[in-house]
Amino acid sequence: MTPSLRKFLDQRLSALQASHRIRRRLPFEGRAGVLAHSADAGDLKVFCSNDYLGLADHPRLVHSWREAVNQYGVGSTASQYINGHSAEIAAFEAELAEFLGYPRVLLFGSGYLVNTGVIDALVGRGDHIVSDQLNHASLIDGCRLSGAAVQRYAHADVAEAGRMLGACGSEGQRLLVSDAVFSMDGDLADMPGLADQARAHDAWLMLDDAHGLGVLGPHGRGAVASAGLGVDEVPLLTGTLGKSFGVYGAFVAGDTDLIEYLVQVSRTAIFTTALPPALVATLRTALQLVAEADEARAHLSRLIAGFRAGLQAQGLPDTGSDTPIQPLIVGAEADTLALSAALRKRGFWVTAIRPPTVPAGTCRLRVTLSAAHSAKDVEALVEALAAIWPRN
Ligand SMILES: *Cc1c(COP(=O)(O)O)cnc(C)c1O
Repeated sequence: MTPSLRKFLDQRLSALQASHRIRRRLPFEGRAGVLAHSADAGDLKVFCSNDYLGLADHPRLVHSWREAVNQYGVGSTASQYINGHSAEIAAFEAELAEFLGYPRVLLFGSGYLVNTGVIDALVGRGDHIVSDQLNHASLIDGCRLSGAAVQRYAHADVAEAGRMLGACGSEGQRLLVSDAVFSMDGDLADMPGLADQARAHDAWLMLDDAHGLGVLGPHGRGAVASAGLGVDEVPLLTGTLGKSFGVYGAFVAGDTDLIEYLVQVSRTAIFTTALPPALVATLRTALQLVAEADEARAHLSRLIAGFRAGLQAQGLPDTGSDTPIQPLIVGAEADTLALSAALRKRGFWVTAIRPPTVPAGTCRLRVTLSAAHSAKDVEALVEALAAIWPRN
């Protein structure tokens, strides 16, 4: 290694170490439902996955995957545009569009790819983006990649978003972009308010429903549906299939011509290997399970209410969230890491969330609840939190 590269790495890594921002990817060897087995910590109850409906190891999905692998093998062999567009993709896109109540859907490899690829395809130099300050990194990176002028409004401040849109001037297009459910706080965007501002300022509204899909709305159709909105108010809807769907992949939903345009130009759809047909066949089964999961969603709602009531009973801070994302704000990096480690000792896996994922000074334990948890699991977590939470 050249001395300059050695020096650069030493400096950067020691700065991360000094600020308690080194990221560790903790390995596990096995998993069953909400239980993970790790060599260092033994069996852990997982309270930080995005598997909100407990589908990631559902027997019907495991069966679908096995059957489809027998039929197709494991890989897709190329981009969708070369020879990777399996009939499974075509069928899934149509089924997902119907489920969402949108005219058309385009499948992507991941939520990161869809958000960067959609924004970059629609706006560029000379255009304007107005973006919530707490938007997911994939939306932020899409804004950067596009080259458009970006203004970030204070979290959830719809009036400020409107003022920023009003100040964009008459040149170029305007894109208004937000998480539908904020990934680190669990709160919902004021979607009708954003839709009003978009309409008033002729802006295109794009919402990322990574965390609402499968969890909120009639039959799990998501946050946008739960707000009574659709393609007229929210012309660009994105979501991932790696969270409540329990698998992998992502999509954008929109009007037929919009999706056709993205099919033509979106670089993160074009210049990348298609999702394997066996995985997409599994997604088709996951869609059926998500649509039928009303009972799991009702159970999840009870767990959320029970968790918040338990925190209150123990004198712990309220999370302020009605979704499965339940953040306990701690503040400093080292304190948050220590609490996460203390939970791990007690058999709970809740990863500490630090900058740049969240703003400095707002490090947190981001607890996530899943329909695969039992009420007892949640009670046990509350007890563990009560035992380790600093009190003065
Ligand atoms: C997880 C997440 C993504 C990324 O989706 P992947 O499929 O994991 O790449 C995008 N947006 C939000 C809000 C997310 O939470």
